[in-house]
Amino acid sequence: MVINNESSCPKCGGKLKYYDRVERIVRTKGRSTKWVTVRRLRCCRCGMLHRELPEYVYPYKQYEMEVITGVLDGIITSDTLGYEDYPCGMTMANWISHKSQFLL
Ligand SMILES: [Zn+2]
Repeated sequence: MVINNESSCPKCGGKLKYYDRVERIVRTKGRSTKWVTVRRLRCCRCGMLHRELPEYVYPYKQYEMEVITGVLDGIITSDTLGYEDYPCGMTMANWISHKSQFLL
């Protein structure tokens, strides 16, 4: 879910206003990590907080979209060179079984 400045609340359609910024860590290939700043927006009507995520980060996932889509497309498996145990097989299986949640 990517929220633009003009966006409205996905729950109730109310107006979203800037709330604060949070830092979050994103895991990339090669086991490196990087920090990204995410703005949080608050709905004027229902008070829900929404994160304005960069396009390459799925909500609540600590992996880059490239890795996730690679797994979902079957390009990256636990046998793929460089991804032998990253992400772990359990995580990949979990993504595949919840594939629909990535197709937003
Ligand atoms: Zn709302």
